[in-house]
Amino acid sequence: MGIGKKVVAPKGGLLAEEARQAGAQHGGKRSAADRASSPDSMQIDTPQLSDPATNPQVAGSTPQSGKQDPTKPQSEKGDMTKDSTLTAGTILIKQPLEIGTKAPAFWRKQSYQECEVINRRKKPGTEDYEYYVHYSSFNRRLDEWIDFDRFDLAALAKVENKRRARKAASERANNASRAKSERKRKDSKKRKSKGPETDKQITKASERTQEHSGHEEASKVKNIQTIVIGAWSVDTWYYSPFPGDYGNYHTLYFCEFCLKFVRSTDALQRHCNRCVLRHPPGIEIYRKGNISMFEVDGATNRIYCQNLCYIAKLFLDHKTLYYDVDPFWFYIMCEVDDRGAHIVGYFSKEKYSEEDYNVACILTLPPYQRKGYGKFLITFSYELSKLENLVGSPEKPLSDLGLLGYRSYWSLVLVDLLRNEDSSALSIYEISEKTMMKTEDIIGTLQALNLIQYYEGQHIIDMRRVKNLKMGSKGLPCDPDCIKWTPHSYGPGVQIPPGATLAGPSMGRRR
Ligand SMILES: [Zn+2]
Repeated sequence: MGIGKKVVAPKGGLLAEEARQAGAQHGGKRSAADRASSPDSMQIDTPQLSDPATNPQVAGSTPQSGKQDPTKPQSEKGDMTKDSTLTAGTILIKQPLEIGTKAPAFWRKQSYQECEVINRRKKPGTEDYEYYVHYSSFNRRLDEWIDFDRFDLAALAKVENKRRARKAASERANNASRAKSERKRKDSKKRKSKGPETDKQITKASERTQEHSGHEEASKVKNIQTIVIGAWSVDTWYYSPFPGDYGNYHTLYFCEFCLKFVRSTDALQRHCNRCVLRHPPGIEIYRKGNISMFEVDGATNRIYCQNLCYIAKLFLDHKTLYYDVDPFWFYIMCEVDDRGAHIVGYFSKEKYSEEDYNVACILTLPPYQRKGYGKFLITFSYELSKLENLVGSPEKPLSDLGLLGYRSYWSLVLVDLLRNEDSSALSIYEISEKTMMKTEDIIGTLQALNLIQYYEGQHIIDMRRVKNLKMGSKGLPCDPDCIKWTPHSYGPGVQIPPGATLAGPSMGRRR
């Protein structure tokens, strides 16, 4: 599956590769052959087949252990919720599956992967259900809707078996306690039996619990499947809380300049005919070649920044969506051509951070990943920190891809520095001053690279290893001389003027 494709020319992406890697790493726990050799006594009930009207010859039949074709799902009529007897070797899988069910499912035609049912819904025009599942070994961006037959039916049968055993045990316990209270009631000469009513109430309560938890879990289900932005149609990764009924649409269409979103290509066309913006609504603070950076004030371009957050949430799982974008600067990276400045990624930054964060959220849009743009954005954020003379670090938690990007950037910077400086005299604090990296990020990275050694009572950096380390790509270079930016004077004790705007770009200074 490609994550981003040009509307004219499809393009593969990171996800396909990640998926392959993930498949290799988390190799299937059960093979297809295992599945085919499921016990032949197992009975599979699917809603379609269990409907007596559509399958009269099956209706009412009694399952015969050992006589069915093992490769073919069998069915039995009956209200499975009534849950009659559980015969050894005959297992019925109750459908629809309950939210929270855990079982392996066949993943990308490759292997079985353990997953959890997050949500379920009826497929339009049928009685069949489909299930939204999260694979426990994979990132949530691989969550998806699957049909019932993708599950490992033998494993489901085991789950069902356990569920029934638990239910039977609890019913026995209930019956015992009911009998006890019945005796008590009789003793106190109150004849009115509340048994059946209590049963109903229990069922209703458990149904409510299920519906309620289903509602809570709904926020984990991806809503928008695709966004069209500029020349790209991009498959999304995660849920994003679009306002109103926008979240109910399969595809949303974005103006790539003002980020307004609409529900159809026609509406987008109408908007583009009117929209005069050809770059992000801020000040250009960097330009080299066809790469440009714009600074946008969350307080003065609220709608633009909120829309950017909606887009970002589609690709960042953990991100807390900030409706209040006022306290942030947004730095938008663009590829520039004769049609305008096209957004490729961004990072946001608190105007004043008590925790020394120099990045709040950071994202390269999927069609532009694997081009070194992520490292450019990280480098740019540290260049701003150098101009501010403030040590900084990204806000935690980082997304999985964000963490990879930062670890790689930190390693490159540190190894570069240690190779080029007279590092024997460098302390961690001096490294921090030179790189604007926080000391804990420096130590963590040196440890991860296995560069710190304990020698004669002291921790020292192993320079032989530094020289021999093979480093990855440095990404797209960021030229500090091309940054035209002066730090904002917001800081501790400095009040942010209401509706503050930039005075305008000024020459960047190098320390
Ligand atoms: Zn527009």
